[in-house]
Amino acid sequence: MTFTRLGLAPALLNAITETGYSTPTAIQSAAIPPALRGADVLGQAQTGSGKTAAFALPLLNALLESGRQGAGARKLYALVLAPTRELAAQVGETLRGLASHLPTPVKISVAFGGVSINPQMMALRGGTDIMVATPGRLLDLVEHNALKLDGTPVLVLDEADKLLDMGFADEIARIMALLPARRQNLFFSATFPPAVQALADKLLHEPVRVATQDEAAHAPDITQRAIEVDQGQRTSLLRILMKEEGWRQVLVFVATKYAAEHVADKLRRGGVAAEAFHGDFSQGARTSVLSDFREGKLKVLVATDVAARGIDIAQLPVVVNYDLPRSPADYTHRIGRTGRAGASGLAVSFITPDAEQHFRLIERRQNVRVPRERLAGFESTAEAKPLPPGANDGTGGIKGKRKSKKDKLREAALVSHLGVTPQE
Ligand code: AMP
Repeated sequence: MTFTRLGLAPALLNAITETGYSTPTAIQSAAIPPALRGADVLGQAQTGSGKTAAFALPLLNALLESGRQGAGARKLYALVLAPTRELAAQVGETLRGLASHLPTPVKISVAFGGVSINPQMMALRGGTDIMVATPGRLLDLVEHNALKLDGTPVLVLDEADKLLDMGFADEIARIMALLPARRQNLFFSATFPPAVQALADKLLHEPVRVATQDEAAHAPDITQRAIEVDQGQRTSLLRILMKEEGWRQVLVFVATKYAAEHVADKLRRGGVAAEAFHGDFSQGARTSVLSDFREGKLKVLVATDVAARGIDIAQLPVVVNYDLPRSPADYTHRIGRTGRAGASGLAVSFITPDAEQHFRLIERRQNVRVPRERLAGFESTAEAKPLPPGANDGTGGIKGKRKSKKDKLREAALVSHLGVTPQE
C-alpha cells in the first residue's frame, strides 16, 4: 500500500513525503479512506501505530479541498480531544508539522490545563481551523467565549479509553451537547472496555470499524523481557543493564511520584543523568525535562503512568517497568513507548517475588509468555533478608559511592553472565 492510493490530495502527498513517511501504517491504510468519505470511524490503535496521522491527514485534506485561504475569521472545522496535555501537545505538533508543508495556511491551536488560559484565548482570536485540547480546558475556553462549537463538523476522540479512565466522561457529554448533532466522528482507542464501547455506540453513526485484526503482523517490533530481582536491587540491576547492554536512553516506569523522585535521585548519585517526571511538575518543568530527554541530555527519565502518557520520543530504545503497572492496558501503553513506527524496541520488566502473580495476569491478557530471566548476583529470593539499616544497597545511595566487595562480585557475575548468554 502506498499513500498515493488512499485518495489524498497531491499537496498532502507532498507534505507526507516532506515529513518523511514513505508508506502508510496499517491503521492509516484502514482509517484514511473511510474518513475521507466522511464516514464515522472507530479505530483500534495503540500509541506508536501512527494513529495521529490516521486522523490528521483526513482533517488536513478536507481543509485543503475546502479551498479556504485563511482570510477572515476561521470557523472551527475539527475538535480533537486528548486525555493529557502531553498528548494534546504532541498531536498539535504532528498536525502542525504536516500543515507546514501545505500551500495554504492551516491554523492549529492547542490548549490544556495547568497553564494560564489567557495566551490560549489570545491565540484563538480570529478563530482557528483545528482545535486540539484536553476536555476541561476546552470547556473553560467555551465558557470564556473564546471558541464556539456549534458549527464544528468533525470530532476526534484520541485515546478514548484514557479519556474515560481519567474521569472525563462528564466533560465529554457536555462537549457533545455543544457540537452539532450531525457531524463526523473519528474515534480512536487502544482498548475497548465496556465504557468505551458504550460511548462508541451512543456517539457513532454506522461507524466503519478499523480495528485491525492482523494487529500482530503490524505490531511494533518490541522484545519483551522479564527479569526476576529483589525489590532492593532494582536500581543496581538497572544501572548494570544500562552499562553492560549499552542502552542509550531509558524510560523507567515506577508506581508513585515518590518512587520517581527517589529512583532518579539514586541514579543521579550514581553518576547517571536522570530526572523524575510526574504529575506534580508544573507545565514549564514538564516541557523542560521532556526536551532535555529528547535532546539526549538526560539518559534516564523515571516516570509515573499518568505523566508519561502521550510522551513520544522518536526511537526510544528501551522501556523498563521498575514497578509493574496496575493494569494490563497500562502495560500495553507503557511498552508502546518503544518500538515506534517500525523501529525495534526493548521492554524490560523487573519481577519482584510479590509481583509474579500480577505479571502472569498481564501475560494472560496479552496472550504472551515472557520467559523469566535470572541474572547471576540478582536472583530474587522471596525470603531475601532486608539489608541492615545504613548498609550500602549497591546504588551508591546510602553510604557513599564506593562499591562494596559484594557489589563488585555481583557485577562481575553479571558481566560474565551477559558474556556467555547473549540476550534475545
Ligand atoms: P502515533 O501512533 O500517532 O503516536 O505515531 C507514532 C510515531 O510514528 C510518530 O513518531 C509518527 O511521526 C510516526 N509515524 C506515523 N506515521 C508514519 C508513517 N506512515 N511512516 C513512518 N512514521 C510514521
